[in-house]
Amino acid sequence: MGFFGDEGISGKFAHNREDFQRMLNECYAGKITRIVTKSVSRFARNQVECMKLARDLKNRGITILFETQGIDTKDEGSFVILSVLASMAEEEIRTLSRNVIFGFLKRYKAGQVNWTGRMLGYEVVKGQFQIVPDEALVVKEIFDLFLKGKSYYQICQILMSRGVQAFQGKGRWTRGWIEFILANEKYCGDVILQKTYAPDIMLPRRKNEGKRPKYEVQNNHIGIVSKATFDAAQAEIARRNKEKLTLKEKNSKFCSLYPFSGKLICTCNGKYRRHAQTFMKNGVKQTERVWVCTTHQGNKTLCDVKPIKESTLEKAFVSTLNNLISNKEMLSEMLGAKIEEVLAGKSVDPRLLAEQLVEAQEELIAISKTTRTDQSQAQAELLIQKIQSLQCEIELAQVNIATQDLTLVRLAEMKKLIKRPLAFFNDDVFTTLINKVLITAEDTKPAKLHFIFYCGIETIEEV
Ligand SMILES: [Zn+2]
Repeated sequence: MGFFGDEGISGKFAHNREDFQRMLNECYAGKITRIVTKSVSRFARNQVECMKLARDLKNRGITILFETQGIDTKDEGSFVILSVLASMAEEEIRTLSRNVIFGFLKRYKAGQVNWTGRMLGYEVVKGQFQIVPDEALVVKEIFDLFLKGKSYYQICQILMSRGVQAFQGKGRWTRGWIEFILANEKYCGDVILQKTYAPDIMLPRRKNEGKRPKYEVQNNHIGIVSKATFDAAQAEIARRNKEKLTLKEKNSKFCSLYPFSGKLICTCNGKYRRHAQTFMKNGVKQTERVWVCTTHQGNKTLCDVKPIKESTLEKAFVSTLNNLISNKEMLSEMLGAKIEEVLAGKSVDPRLLAEQLVEAQEELIAISKTTRTDQSQAQAELLIQKIQSLQCEIELAQVNIATQDLTLVRLAEMKKLIKRPLAFFNDDVFTTLINKVLITAEDTKPAKLHFIFYCGIETIEEV
């Protein structure tokens, strides 16, 4: 046992303090197994360093007790509070009064501290990120495919063709999930605190775009991808967004020119281009509009899906829609099932969860005011876990509701638009109802058009 005084010495940079360094050396030599320090601010005033040291020492079997805050790294749960306090340290340590924990909890109550729970590749156990190996491989693959130039859609297709389930949303991969994963700094081991904030506990969280301080805790946990890979992905996201913008400007006229523009996808993932085909009929030169897969156009051995006439596409849409309209029973069954599905997912009311959250937070504050005992500490940790999972559930519920509302709006639109059968192809009806048309063909069999409606219904037409 040795005494290492750090009283009155600035803790700003741990490596400047001789005593501190001497203590660390003894830790590394295995002479110390327990450190008792006054407070987090005394231990290190730099958040990154504090977390790193505390974690590193814990891994070596050395635990730290921060007396003032009553935080003990013996408990894994303490890292949750520690990371928050450490993140506050840099900007707020000077103004902090004695009861730091109380201050933290007040911030927590105000909804300023955000914690993400379960995510693909990681499980948060007692505030610690733990890698889920199978899922981590999927995350790695997504970064890899993206950096190899695959589109969001192609990545979804690749994963789904192998039967890899998305983490949420009924296992179906969507562009949104891929974007979420690629932009999530947690995958390289960093955590940004206060990425979102709630102006009020009952209001949805907002993206923090400078309204509140953001704290980046680097190397908070083990990353699934390297920092270099993550940074490369961010650069690539920015590049693609920019490209999309300029393309949109350039082709804004073109994009809205044809109803099928941007909506046709080939089974090979290729995009479709409108093309004029000339042929001779009874000695007369005739022109016909066709849509052709760009892969097929470039190299027929890569994709053997033949060009499809525009008139065929139009007829197929009219046929599929009229089929739905004439078969009212089937349609209302399909729509009914969709609505039911949407409503079933709405079982969790985020306001109820928010009430539970406030209760748990108040309980935690009450406990922090009482004398610390093993029992109260255990209770506090349980509450912190509960708070974390509730915040996670609230966020999820809000995302779900937003998605469900949109689906319900589209279902209503659908009902309105399809009262009477179509006599001929109508641009507006097609554009409003159809999200994508997937075109598939198998060897000698005729092509199949899969109409994917915005409201979630899918129909197939053989042509
Ligand atoms: Zn193709």
